[in-house]
Amino acid sequence: MPSSNRTSRVPRILRLNHAGMPVSWATWYEASRLYARDLVIWTLGDPVIKLRGGYSRKLSQVSELDIHGIVACRGKIFERGSLVPPVSNPALFARDGQMCMYCGVESRDLTRDHLVPRSRGGADSWENVVAACYKCNHRKGNRLLEESGMELLALPYVPNFAEYLALINSGRILADQMDFLRARFARNSRLKAA
Ligand SMILES: [Zn+2]
Repeated sequence: MPSSNRTSRVPRILRLNHAGMPVSWATWYEASRLYARDLVIWTLGDPVIKLRGGYSRKLSQVSELDIHGIVACRGKIFERGSLVPPVSNPALFARDGQMCMYCGVESRDLTRDHLVPRSRGGADSWENVVAACYKCNHRKGNRLLEESGMELLALPYVPNFAEYLALINSGRILADQMDFLRARFARNSRLKAA
């Protein structure tokens, strides 16, 4: 196990592509593999994890590895056309502030509601889904928004990748990682105030 400057939880490492665009969170182990394979081009911030490896005959010393909180890596990261983050319930509920977008109740028991229902050709896309409590989801049923007479508290939007990474690692992000991501949020992002 790594020694860390945080005793409670080992932080996750923010991985960037060679252009400096945030692409994923890595565990300390995955990050150590990136260093070992010489894929890390540059880093930001202070080291957050110190790993002690085995004895290196070549160097006549115990090897150590400092892992930084933000690492930029060489290599192809994105397939073409995959720049929209995947829709997942944890990210969706975080986008909508853990709140039902119809009645405003904050709940740990939210559902994914489709504005245009799946049965009527609605896509499983960020613009067509909102967090909803069971009651509101059930009430809306198989109807369109205008047919149901229900209103949204906020319009759904597609998070960019920086926003998405902040959403899926909410509460575990180091200050310099958050600063890096926040600087790349959309200009009118709802997350800006968070
Ligand atoms: Zn509700």
